[in-house]
Amino acid sequence: MEFKSLEIIDPILQALQEEGYTTPTPIQAEAIPIILQGTDLLGCAQTGTGKTAAFAIPILQLLSENKVYDKKRKIRTLIVTPTRELAIQIGESFNAYGRHTGLTNTVIFGGVNQNPQTAALIRGVDIVIATPGRLLDLLNQGFLSLRHVEILVLDEADRMLDMGFIHDIKKILAVVPKQKQSLFFSATMPAEIVKLAATILHNPSKVSV
Ligand code: AMP
Repeated sequence: MEFKSLEIIDPILQALQEEGYTTPTPIQAEAIPIILQGTDLLGCAQTGTGKTAAFAIPILQLLSENKVYDKKRKIRTLIVTPTRELAIQIGESFNAYGRHTGLTNTVIFGGVNQNPQTAALIRGVDIVIATPGRLLDLLNQGFLSLRHVEILVLDEADRMLDMGFIHDIKKILAVVPKQKQSLFFSATMPAEIVKLAATILHNPSKVSV
């Protein structure tokens, strides 16, 4: 199978070709068509399976296809992930696959000066990739609004729970629009995760690799 048969648009196909990707991984082959349909997704997948591209590619495509003509960019996709390293990796993936789309992203995480992060938010971005604590901190300071989020991704949800982020996640969920597409990824599916997923997802398609 090729990426082309997943009906991926040319600007993204070209970027994938430049990355040297020829064939989608199993999770990509399953998840990309589901996400492109606008369906919620519950994905059971570990890092190393190509999970990041499985959500980044269709998100870039959906945002490209549904253009918003506004002078200032609004945050249309929020990705919440447990660690700074993961946030940076996800940001690099969006840069790579999205380089011909004109869409912009920024990465937000704690432990560093917030000024470069707030400067990017003030300029305006389409996609924010964040760890929960710093995201809430900047939200509370009024540096960003999540009112225009169309797609929400919770990445490595089990790890976020293990790290004690459940209350932060609930606060974030309270300020994103009810009507949105939600993608929920976890390497394991203990009862707590299944319960959290059920509160977020509407008729999700399930993908497991
Ligand atoms: P991830 O599971 O998202 O952390 O991705 C694992 C690694 O696989 C990353 O280094 C990606 O750059 C790479 N990768 C993802 N999708 C593909 C693909 N379709 N073909 C080749 N490499 C890929």
